[in-house]
Formats: sequence, C-alpha cells, structure tokens
Amino acid sequence: MKNVLITGASRGIGKACVYEFSKQGYRVFLNYNKSKNEAEKIKEETGAVIINADISKKDEVKKMADYIHENYGKIDIIINNAGISQIKIFTDITEEDWDNIFNVNIKGMYLVTKEFVNDMISKKSGKIINISSMWGITGGSCEVHYSASKAAVIGFTKALAKELGPSNICVNCVAPGVIDTEMNKNLNEYYLKELCEETPLGRLGKPDEVAKTILFLASNDSDFITGQILNVDGGMVI
Ligand code: NAP
Repeated sequence: MKNVLITGASRGIGKACVYEFSKQGYRVFLNYNKSKNEAEKIKEETGAVIINADISKKDEVKKMADYIHENYGKIDIIINNAGISQIKIFTDITEEDWDNIFNVNIKGMYLVTKEFVNDMISKKSGKIINISSMWGITGGSCEVHYSASKAAVIGFTKALAKELGPSNICVNCVAPGVIDTEMNKNLNEYYLKELCEETPLGRLGKPDEVAKTILFLASNDSDFITGQILNVDGGMVI
C-alpha cells in the first residue's frame, strides 16, 4: 500500500484528494491546520490518518514527519496543496500579509518536501505534486503576493524535477483555474459570473476534477512526466 501525504486536506481540493486516493486504496495522511472537526469527519468517512500541523512552522512539520515515520514508515507521494489567498490592492498589502502568504504557500512547501524527500531518494521512487494556480502563470490583479507565491511554486517544481529526476522521482505541478471551494467564498456573485464567462468551458471547476488530475500525476500512468505544469482550468489559460 502506498503512503500519500496531502497537506491542507481538511477542505476543498485537498479534501477531494483524500476521497479520491482513499477510493483507490492508498493510505492517506490528511494534514490540516485549524479545521479539526472537518478533519475528524473525513477520517470517519475514509479511514485517513489525520495530523495537525501548521506547515509554515518548521517544528510542527518535523513533528508530523516524526509521527509518520515512527508509526507508518516512508511517504511515497507528497501533495503540496495547503495554501492561503488574499485579495488586496498592492499598496494595501502589508509586510505581514506578504509574509503570511509566502510562509504558507512556498516556505511550507519547502519545509514539507524537505522532511519527506529522503524517503523517496532512498527508495529511488516517488511523486511530488505541487499546487500552483493560474494566477501564478498569468498574474492576478489585486493578488500580487498570492500570484508571486504561486509563480514561485512553478519555479520550485521545475528546479526540483531536474534535481530529483536521476533519483526516479517525478515532480509536477497542477495549476487550477477557479474552483468551487471556500477559498472563493468571499468573491462576489458578479465577479464569479465574470470569471465563468472568461472560462471557455463556462463554469467553475469542481474540487474532484482537480483531485482526479492529481491522482493521475501520482499514479504509474504518469511515470515519464516530470517538471510539468498541468492547467485544470476549463481553458482559462490557453
Ligand atoms: P481552501 O478550501 O481554502 O482550503 C485550504 C486548505 O489549506 C484547508 O484545508 C486549510 O486547512 C489548509 N491550510 C491553510 N493554511 C495551512 C497551514 N498553514 N498549514 C496546513 N494547512 C493549511 O482552499 P482550496 O481552494 O482547496 O485550495 C487548495 C490549493 O489550491 C491552494 O494551494 C490554493 O492556492 C490552490 N488553488 C485554489 C484555487 C481555487 O479556485 N479554489 C485556484 C487555484 C489554486 P485548515 O482549514 O485546517 O486551516
């Protein structure tokens, strides 16, 4: 049985991944930060192992890694999904806002990957899937810090894919468009409608549509794919 760690899996895309991977027989480690009740409920429904850790904090990530290694062994697949967003005009973004976004969206990815990558190097096998965003490719107005952090995810993916290729580890990235999750709950109806109209497929994406793409990139069906950015966005970025 393969072990998969999914960060930020108490809601949205991460949660959908827990259900998809559980259905396929993976042993799933569900990381969450604040949403304990949601995580407990998913555990009941899927049998996932839930682990609380703020991925932006080195000591919490280390504790999570120690717990998994001592009790379950090595991780085969990392899904670096946890992320936060914020809508603000550039001149209103404070240093604290900037640091919060970067600490979760890219430093957290570095901390988690660093704790588990040796599991894969020692086995000469593994998959790392990082979640960026279409805004990391095109840039989103009023989301400069978010867009910059998601562009960093793309650079991280490409560089790590080159470095880990000789160890037979595939590193890929998924760049979702507008997906129907709590992350977008503050967007007003007018703006959401406009985003749908800009999307060739004319609608929001569903979390399980992103999860199924991640499942493919984690499977042996994608063994010759590495360093790629796969857009799951209804054609928003073509
Ligand atoms: P979401 O519904 O807001 O869920 C975010 C998840 O991340 C939650 O499970 C949350 O856990 C977790 N999280 C946040 N900070 C964390 C931290 N410090 N440590 C550990 N977990 C943390 O978001 P989503 O829409 O599913 O987004 C998932 C990923 O896709 C993000 O990287 C996001 O940037 C990206 N994305 C989303 C969209 C979209 O339209 N939804 C588009 C492009 C890219 P707690 O609730 O437990 O804190």
